Amino acid sequence: MKTNQVIKAPTGSELTCKGWQQEAAMRMLMNNLDPQVAENPDELVVYGGIGKAARNWESFHQIIATLKKLENDETLIVQSGKPVAVFKTHDHAPRVLIANSNIVPSWANWDHFYKLESEGLMMYGQMTAGSWIYIGAQGILQGTYLSFVEAGKKAFGSADLSGRLILTGGMGGMSGAQPLAGKMAGAVTLVVEVERKRIERKINEGYCDYLVTDIDEALQLVNKYRQKREAVSIGLVGNCADIFPAIYEKGIVPDIVTDQTSAHDPINGYIPNGMRFEQALVLRKNDPKAYEEKAKAAMGVHVQAMLDFQASGSEVFDYGNNIRAYAKEMGVENAFDFPGFVPAYIRPLFCEGKGPFRWAALSGDPEDIYRTDRLVKEMFAEDASLVKWINMAQKMIQWQGLPSRICWLGYGDRHRFALEVNKLVATGEMKAPIVFGRDHLDSGSVASPNRETEGMKDGSDAVSDWPILNALLNTAGGASWVSVHHGGGVGMGYSQHAGQVIVADGTKEAAEKIKRVLITDPGMGVARHVDAGYDIAIETAKEKGIHIPMMDS
Ligand code: NAD
Repeated sequence: MKTNQVIKAPTGSELTCKGWQQEAAMRMLMNNLDPQVAENPDELVVYGGIGKAARNWESFHQIIATLKKLENDETLIVQSGKPVAVFKTHDHAPRVLIANSNIVPSWANWDHFYKLESEGLMMYGQMTAGSWIYIGAQGILQGTYLSFVEAGKKAFGSADLSGRLILTGGMGGMSGAQPLAGKMAGAVTLVVEVERKRIERKINEGYCDYLVTDIDEALQLVNKYRQKREAVSIGLVGNCADIFPAIYEKGIVPDIVTDQTSAHDPINGYIPNGMRFEQALVLRKNDPKAYEEKAKAAMGVHVQAMLDFQASGSEVFDYGNNIRAYAKEMGVENAFDFPGFVPAYIRPLFCEGKGPFRWAALSGDPEDIYRTDRLVKEMFAEDASLVKWINMAQKMIQWQGLPSRICWLGYGDRHRFALEVNKLVATGEMKAPIVFGRDHLDSGSVASPNRETEGMKDGSDAVSDWPILNALLNTAGGASWVSVHHGGGVGMGYSQHAGQVIVADGTKEAAEKIKRVLITDPGMGVARHVDAGYDIAIETAKEKGIHIPMMDS
């Protein structure tokens, strides 16, 4: 069943469900499919290739209907985007439990997934798509900005990227954050995107400055703004597998090179080169196997160009789409010579339980988010980079759907902050409750050997007990909804991960749950990195008093 209905989350302080947790789950699911937020809402696709919010329209409508009737001591069970049962639990249990795209390991590949999907048995939940806490491109913006800044510090000893060139690919759901993140870091950012309308959308949303269709025109703009040391972003319509090698052939060495096309999915994500975009879509439909081979071959060419840039002196990193694995499969033996962004720049933050924490205002009123911005600046006034982030975010980010804020906070700070917000909801300073959540790409909630857990100190990259423990613990703590997924970010067979969301509705019960969940959730991140032997995590655990039994003696 299809729908042409435009989905928009209700806003304001009137409840339409029997409690704020159910209301929040309903509004956030609907927000994921808001045309301002989702990449292809007609197909229920939120972002990241075919990352969906619900299995089909029938399931979507039934989830909404069930949430409206759900009691405050009941739990809705969602299996790969379909509501399958409601059970009586208790008022401190999650209102929704979600499992998406999980497949027994020996069957966990795209071929088997697509067989199940075609039989109507499964959907691809990506990370925040199927767990209803996607907030548009802002969700990855701060992480991308931090990665660019850290790349600059490592390669050139400076966080200021003015006069520098970042070359990357992809301007879709999450990848669309790259042009603005590069601009925030002061750089000239050239993004190669095969589908023109994706660039147009990002220009309309204020994330990108220029759209060009010609490589030489793009490079002229690059030169002009590098010389002026002015930060701008340029979207070039083209295929990375054609444009990256062409830029290399011209002898241009960008300062930073990465890529965020949907390479995790060689059938419904990455677009092969050597044909027009529209021809690729026809081939995908008529002969998916031939399409897949061409897409993987193109990834080989794309990664080879990235390796060539690296050999010429560019700072090159993989940005979490598994492109290296497919290139290696196609014979690029040294595809893993450039690192993933987590081991290169982000892991020290994970050791402190820091990651892409975020919140959204159910009122729909931006003033509620501005109030949280002021609170961040008051509570963390000594953290100059965080204050700078909030100031930049306020100035440069347009709202998409429900007003929201991304803000990387760590262990100890997340629950302190959420408790203060809960008080503001209680006093009526906020017009409606605030929803707190995070990406599955977080400190203790993901096992993904080519991404978040690449190159772990103790070799535990593929151990996926951690995200499962994370979900169990957040369920025990009473998060409002908890999810366990497979295949997000890097594709089938390559990752397992968990999500949680908690609602601050101003009540005493919400405060109790926040005090449990927003301690245990980042706490699992610290514990996971203590177990792997990271000094920063061990220091954090000691300083913050996290009880790690093996450290007792
Ligand atoms: P998306 O599908 O919404 O967008 C990807 C874009 O890449 C599309 O606009 C598509 O047209 C473009 N594209 C595909 N092949 C191309 C090619 N050969 N040349 C040029 N452009 C091409 O996906 P998204 O949400 O932007 O996510 C992109 C990738 O990043 C995915 O693999 C996703 O899993 C991963 N991801 C990484 C992180 C992270 O933190 N590093 C977070 C979220 C998603």
